[in-house]
Amino acid sequence: MNIAVINSGSSSIKFQLFCMEKKEVLAYILVEQIGEFSSHTMLKYADKKLEITSVLKNHHDGLEEIIFLLSKYEILQDFTSLSAIGHRVVHGGEEFKNATVINAIGHRVVHGGEEFKNATVINESVIKQIEALIPLAPLHNPANLEGILVARKKAPFVPQIAVFDTAFHSHMPEEAYLYALPYKMYEKYKIRRYGFHGTSHSYVLKKTAEFLKEDAGDLNIITLHLGNGSSVCAIEEGVSVDTSMGFTPLEGLIMGSRCGDIDPAILIHMQRELGMSVDEVDTLLNKKSGLIGICGSNDVRSLIELNDEKSKLAIKMMVRRIKKYIGAYIALLGEVDAIVFTGGIGENSAYIREMIFETEICGTVLDKDLNNKNETVISTKKSSIKLMVIKTNEEEEIANECLSVLKLKV
Ligand code: ADP
Repeated sequence: MNIAVINSGSSSIKFQLFCMEKKEVLAYILVEQIGEFSSHTMLKYADKKLEITSVLKNHHDGLEEIIFLLSKYEILQDFTSLSAIGHRVVHGGEEFKNATVINAIGHRVVHGGEEFKNATVINESVIKQIEALIPLAPLHNPANLEGILVARKKAPFVPQIAVFDTAFHSHMPEEAYLYALPYKMYEKYKIRRYGFHGTSHSYVLKKTAEFLKEDAGDLNIITLHLGNGSSVCAIEEGVSVDTSMGFTPLEGLIMGSRCGDIDPAILIHMQRELGMSVDEVDTLLNKKSGLIGICGSNDVRSLIELNDEKSKLAIKMMVRRIKKYIGAYIALLGEVDAIVFTGGIGENSAYIREMIFETEICGTVLDKDLNNKNETVISTKKSSIKLMVIKTNEEEEIANECLSVLKLKV
């Protein structure tokens, strides 16, 4: 049984093909610079890696290229033979608490999870709802939707499932997701904390449970997804009860180019006193702040190597913010079984992990040796909380969601 996962961005498509029985990735394809002068495609399959330059005008051409390559290299001859296609959708608003079926063979209007018992004929309503959520995620949802629409055209009878980055956080309590704004801002305009990276936090929770031979529903853990975009999640008995990203992925930690938490009055000041436009403020906060804003680069690995004053400062600021969140989430959860690192920085940077746990946080003790070796458990036996590293795999989580929503067995 083969399942494809599509992560469609504004000018890129990340594609993975899974053989579910063998738990094997049959192909990984990354199409970049869609709509530009020349586009770049990278295909990895078996032990091979290919790079191709071509002109791909839009996402339709991008997916055509993917289908063509799968057939040319005899990885998948018939795209319509897939058992399911899973799509990453960044914002699911309050509507989508589960992975959701967009269309299934001869069926439609199917909300995922429990409700997927009697599939009905194809429904545009999920697509309309994702469209309606565009104002909440203007950078992400249009691109995600584009991928869905193109894939539906290419494989109209293959079940397609939307998996939302927000879904894992949809059970946060009111006191966690509400902002202290007039209540009607929530009621009328849905201004609230949604949280993102949910697919990754959820995957890491399951893998942690597997590793510890525990039930995920019994675990209290703090997951740190540290990449270009970063977020922390407090998970109580397997449920996300708080997370650092908010109404948008701008809140929380200091990220590659995003500022994370700042005094909201700074935005007013920038507009009122400095005469900046809304778009200028938006670009400044999302694209020119964070590590880039402080030292000119968002690449943590090269900042560590460079080690000049500004790079050191940027990293110190990032680490300090991470520590503040860890402390806060330990206070929220009370008992914590593990603090788990993931994402490009979390998985690979022993240096950053060591900076975070240089001094004990509530009795945590890092084992420097295990940390340097990137072991799964990087704390000593004495540590009050296990410190762990788990490699995330959002695409695998999406493929597994497809299985469970469609109630397919491998
Ligand atoms: P994205 O959020 O775009 O998916 P990633 O999760 O791939 O990003 O993380 C990218 C970040 O991880 C970059 O800042 C990169 O420098 C950092 N990174 C990757 N490997 C290492 C490493 N060995 N040491 C330090 N930082 C690393």
